[in-house]
Amino acid sequence: AIPVLTIDGPSGSGKGTVSRLVARALGWHYLDSGALYRAVGVAAGWAGLDLDDAGALVRCAFDTDIAFREAADGELRVLVNGHDATDELRTETAGAAASAIAAIPEVRAALRDRQRAFRQPPGLVADGRDMGTVIFPDARFKVFLTASAEERAERRYKQLKDKGVSVTLAGLLREILARDARDASRAVAPLRPAEDAVRIDTTGLPIAAVVERVLALLPA
Ligand code: C5P
Repeated sequence: AIPVLTIDGPSGSGKGTVSRLVARALGWHYLDSGALYRAVGVAAGWAGLDLDDAGALVRCAFDTDIAFREAADGELRVLVNGHDATDELRTETAGAAASAIAAIPEVRAALRDRQRAFRQPPGLVADGRDMGTVIFPDARFKVFLTASAEERAERRYKQLKDKGVSVTLAGLLREILARDARDASRAVAPLRPAEDAVRIDTTGLPIAAVVERVLALLPA
C-alpha cells in the first residue's frame, strides 16, 4: 500500500507548517484537508447559501471545483471554481464557515473520496482533524499535535499579522476556543487522536524540532 502519514490536531497546533515541511523532506504529496472544508465554506458564501441549508451545502461540496497549485515561490495556492482564493481561505470567517459545514455528515462524506484520491506514490502526508481516524485509518504513520490554546492563538496572530490582516489576540483566542469546542463536540468525526497516533505537545517547541520528531517516526 502507498504509505500515508496522518497529522491531526486542533487549529494552530502547527500541523499545517509541520505537514508541509515533512512532505517536502520526504518528497511525498501533501493534503491540506482543512482547505477543502474552507473552500466549500467560501464557495457557499459566494453562492449566498444559508449555512443551515444542509441539502444545498452538500450539493456545494460535490460541485465546488478545488485545485491546488504550487506558485513560483513554492507557496501552495488554492483555486476555488477557478479563482485564487488562498488569502480568503485563511481568514477566521472562512475557518468558522468550514467548521459549521464540517459538522454536516453528508458534507464530510462528499469530501471523503476527494481526500483519498491524494494517496499517490511515493507517499502522502495528510493534515486535518480526522485523517488518522476516518479518512486513512490504515495509515502506516499517525501523529496528533497539540499545543495550549494561548500559544495556538499567538501563532495564528503572527501568521495573520504577517499577511497584513488586522485582528486582536483576545478575539482570536475566543474564536479558537469556540471552534475547538464545536469541533470536539460534534456528532460526526469529533476531533480526537487515533488510538495508534503518536501525540506530540508542541507548546514551546520550535517548528524545526517538531519536524525532526515526526521524521524520526519514519524508517530512515
Ligand atoms: O485545519 P483548518 O483550520 O484549515 O480547518 C478548518 C475547519 O475545517 C476546522 O475547524 C474543522 O471544523 C474542519 N475540518 C474538519 N476535518 C478536517 C479538516 C478540517 O472537520 N479533516
